[in-house]
Amino acid sequence: MADYKIAVIAGDGIGPEVMGEALQVLRAAEESEGFSLQIEEFPWNSEYWLEHGRMMPEDGLEQLRSFDAILFGAIGDARVPDDITIWELIMPIRKGFHQYVNFRPVKSLPGIQTPLANGDGIDFVIFRENAEGEYSDSGGRLYAGQEGEMAVQNTIMTRAGIERITRAACRYAEENGRTKITSATKSNAVIHANKLWDEHVQRVVSEEFGDLEFEQYYVDALAAYFVQRPQSFDVVLASNLFGDILSDLGSGLVGGLGLSPSGNINPEKDYPSMFEPVHGSAPDIAGKGIANPVAQIWSTALMLEHLGEKRAAERIVGAIEEVLAKGKVRTRDIGGEATTIEMGGAILEAFNKQESAVTEG
Ligand code: NAD
Ligand code: MN
Repeated sequence: MADYKIAVIAGDGIGPEVMGEALQVLRAAEESEGFSLQIEEFPWNSEYWLEHGRMMPEDGLEQLRSFDAILFGAIGDARVPDDITIWELIMPIRKGFHQYVNFRPVKSLPGIQTPLANGDGIDFVIFRENAEGEYSDSGGRLYAGQEGEMAVQNTIMTRAGIERITRAACRYAEENGRTKITSATKSNAVIHANKLWDEHVQRVVSEEFGDLEFEQYYVDALAAYFVQRPQSFDVVLASNLFGDILSDLGSGLVGGLGLSPSGNINPEKDYPSMFEPVHGSAPDIAGKGIANPVAQIWSTALMLEHLGEKRAAERIVGAIEEVLAKGKVRTRDIGGEATTIEMGGAILEAFNKQESAVTEG
């Protein structure tokens, strides 16, 4: 029987609230799908920082190293600067564990209102480069306070970095019956890094994945096409900055933050990958018990899929879709009155009603 070690970091604000619901569904999957879990929770959040002056212990990454995956909630607290919570907890994990793929599904959900007149049938995934690119610490500010004050930011793209994100997107396409790669670029603006991006993306796709259809758009035009014809995309490949923006646009197209999961993935499985909702700690609703747990529960499904438990993952997504389609139980962000616990409970119930590997014998 497969046995997985899962590290859980619930974090701040609504993180622990939605994590509670996700863990119930995860335990139900364990019971019915024939794998076993060792779950360990780590209290690394803003409270921890206020007490210890750091977001995680010095050997935090070593502690996480032996886990098969990390399930993350959300982080962020008014008492701690955002650059500390993000740069001392999330970033070290993403970078230290070579999680160079940020994976975000964008899928229309039944019964969810979208801002589009024709928002049905959207089903694509975004592969955002997660380790280099525009978000680098190379550069800085000069001449502070003077007339000529300025900032310089270096984008760092490497051939190896472009090749590996391209391969990850193409392999995912091949393994999941997807047929088209859309690359986002801005090479028309004489950005050296984007020229390098285009060259190596095109080369890897044509040399190694000739069966896949390939297209490339300037990212500004692509943003418009996301709104005008989102159904025409399948696998979208983008650099760190472009992927960040496109994925929030994608999230907005299909119903918002409460419904959007993500994975920070190390495809080689040399290190644990980390799965987390796209949303933050939502201080405006934290403690009220009204957060939508769908993004966290769906992130748990992405984690199980990454671990190879595809069927458990599909059952979880199916349960989410069933509850949303019925529309009786909904949290406020999607037009209902339900609490976090009611929404999580409805998904758990729908999950348990489905056929399971164990009852089929
Ligand atoms: P946010 O995602 O926390 O909230 C944005 C809006 O969406 C709020 O109105 C919130 O109530 C709503 N919302 C978010 N998740 C929801 C859910 N599950 N159900 C219902 N409504 C939901 O973003 P923000 O307000 O910009 O940031 C708040 C804090 O979170 C900041 O400290 C920020 O740095 C942090 N943050 C952390 C992460 C992360 O942990 N990866 C991501 C984004 C923001
Ligand atoms: Mn973002």
